[in-house]
Amino acid sequence: MKIGVLASQGAFIEHIITLNKLDIEAMPVRLPVELKGVDGLIIPGGESTTISRLMDSYKLAEEITALARDGMPVFGTCAGMILMASEISGNTTRSLGLMDITVKRNAFGRQVDSFETDLKIPVLGEKPFPAVFIRAPIIERYSNNVEVLARLDDNTAVAARQDKLLGMAFHPELTNDLRFHKYFLEIVTGKRN
Ligand code: GLN
Repeated sequence: MKIGVLASQGAFIEHIITLNKLDIEAMPVRLPVELKGVDGLIIPGGESTTISRLMDSYKLAEEITALARDGMPVFGTCAGMILMASEISGNTTRSLGLMDITVKRNAFGRQVDSFETDLKIPVLGEKPFPAVFIRAPIIERYSNNVEVLARLDDNTAVAARQDKLLGMAFHPELTNDLRFHKYFLEIVTGKRN
């Protein structure tokens, strides 16, 4: 199995290291040709406006959208999830529109722009997941075919799945907990339907 990691900008190296820990071949993707033969794609955190611009300049946006429509699994963390959304509220950044969700960028404001919290994520089992939020978005709206995987105590949705698309507001690649990456790999192999 080969997983592409969009490497335009942001925390892509951490995803590559996490995949390597799981013995998975990870391929940094900067050009459309590098998407050939990947079984799934990770879009990392970073600055969504910058990643969006770079994806456009390198003609990656069209290619990723086409492959995702054809069933390529995609996993977006933080800015990655913002870019997967069909709508970014109050913002003109161009997203890929892969998941039928509306996200709000920098939703926690300046006072608490970064924090870590243990989240209950039923699909990952009993043990809470250490979720690292860095100037994170939230999921404000989702359609019926979107499954919310995790919520904060106040019920805010922060992780979701739609078919083979997985998006979350936090950064599993910055922890030693490999369960979310394993979960994505199970979506890729078809073990998790
Ligand atoms: N605040 C960033 C954005 O809106 C996302 C931050 C992150 O990816 N950690 O693009």
